Amino acid sequence: KVRVRFAPSPTGGLHLGGVRTALFNFLFARHHGGDFILRIEDTDQTRFVPGAEEYITECLAWCGIAPDESPNKPGAFGPYRQSERKPSYRQYAEQLIRDGYAYYAFDTAEELDEQRKSQPNFRYSHENRMQLRNSLSLSPEETQELLASGHPHTIRIKMPIGETVSFEDMIRGRVAFETNLVDDKVLLKADGMPTYHLAVVVDDKAMEISHIFRGEEWLPSAPVHILLWEYLGWKSDMPQWAHLPLILKPDGNGKLSKRDGDRLGFPVYAMNWADPKTGDLTKGFREMGFLPEAFINMLAVLGWNDGTEQELFSMDELIAKFSVERISKAGAKFDFEKAKWFNHEWIKQTSDEELLPKVTEILSQHGIEKVDAAYQAKILGLVKERMTFVEDFWEQASFFFKTPEAYDVDAVKPKWNADKTAFFQHISIVFAEVEDWNAATLEPLFKEKISESGMKIGELMMPFRIMLVGGKFGPDVFQIAEALGKDEIIHRIANALP
Ligand code: GLU
Repeated sequence: KVRVRFAPSPTGGLHLGGVRTALFNFLFARHHGGDFILRIEDTDQTRFVPGAEEYITECLAWCGIAPDESPNKPGAFGPYRQSERKPSYRQYAEQLIRDGYAYYAFDTAEELDEQRKSQPNFRYSHENRMQLRNSLSLSPEETQELLASGHPHTIRIKMPIGETVSFEDMIRGRVAFETNLVDDKVLLKADGMPTYHLAVVVDDKAMEISHIFRGEEWLPSAPVHILLWEYLGWKSDMPQWAHLPLILKPDGNGKLSKRDGDRLGFPVYAMNWADPKTGDLTKGFREMGFLPEAFINMLAVLGWNDGTEQELFSMDELIAKFSVERISKAGAKFDFEKAKWFNHEWIKQTSDEELLPKVTEILSQHGIEKVDAAYQAKILGLVKERMTFVEDFWEQASFFFKTPEAYDVDAVKPKWNADKTAFFQHISIVFAEVEDWNAATLEPLFKEKISESGMKIGELMMPFRIMLVGGKFGPDVFQIAEALGKDEIIHRIANALP
């Protein structure tokens, strides 16, 4: 059975790359009728940040990719926080020692700091392990003594010398690593907590994970993980690997970081994140006004396509079409303008029923309450095409709810004159007589009166719009007139005339 996991460390806000990793796991699981698991990798207690786990849970829910099993929704493979699985790890580290694949290391933090001071490129590895303090360099008696005395120790993997570890990555194909280049990673820390390397393998086995989708930054750790699967005797259960391409800066120059967002003025986190220590707020896509459908669609096509030119996908389509074969090896450039385009497209596709509560909220933020629901729906229909964010509603539509306070006078060219004033005084009287008040009657009527006046259409259309709207924007002017109603139009003309 397909079982995949998203395994974040609760250290802060969720970067869009993290959400994409979660999404690809989710899509693969759904496509194959499998399970999507959330596992919290919180073994590094120095990096633990309060609130980060709740944030991750909320984020996945907002994106519509809530897990099937998680700390809040335990299945048969719990607990789902590594800190709560602490007792399960030591036995495997000790099994590795017994089998000759790992060793106790007694070097204190100070001793290792000394080493690093004298050798800037210090790595604990096959090259120097016999000169350091561990169960390989010490006699069995010395080792026993140190253990019995409770001397703090870690357990490290004993990387083999001169071997090649290779595996088949679902995205990259065959990948090979020289073991000589990999250091003897710590597996169990002095506080008894496993490191990521041990915990990830033990838990992927215990949770019966079948496929691992994770960021490319974990590729260098893969040889350690592969060896652990082998050394623990679990090789036949090893999941298949897929290392996802990086999300790159807009100019393609390296990995997209949170700092790029600050610098270029776009969000990098899925939702707002307030750092509990400093109180610093990092803006998120959600709060910027992105619809989850647009955010997910945009992420899905960062490194994946369905082989056609199609760019807009609903979640159901993504699930149906997702395939590992179409994930690219190359990094994908993040483009904020494109992200906004996705939101614009999704706003157009989203039903009024879904958008209207937000519209009501925006109106009320501007002190406009109790607006007839049908009127709100009508206005939304008129300006929807012009919105990138739902929040744009106010900018695009405020004039439907209040008379303009200022007019873009410069836009009325050529200059105003008495003929124009006379025209609008006359048209007000004509309008007052109209029984069938709608765009289809108003447009020919207005144009007919212009031609009777001897002026040009171009001279009077823009002033009319500005009287109603305040500026040179908005949907079709006769649609506006229809929506605002006769009395309001006559009022606005009178209000705007000099
Ligand atoms: N805890 C790792 C992270 O924070 C997970 C890597 C993996 O999926 O193996 O990204």
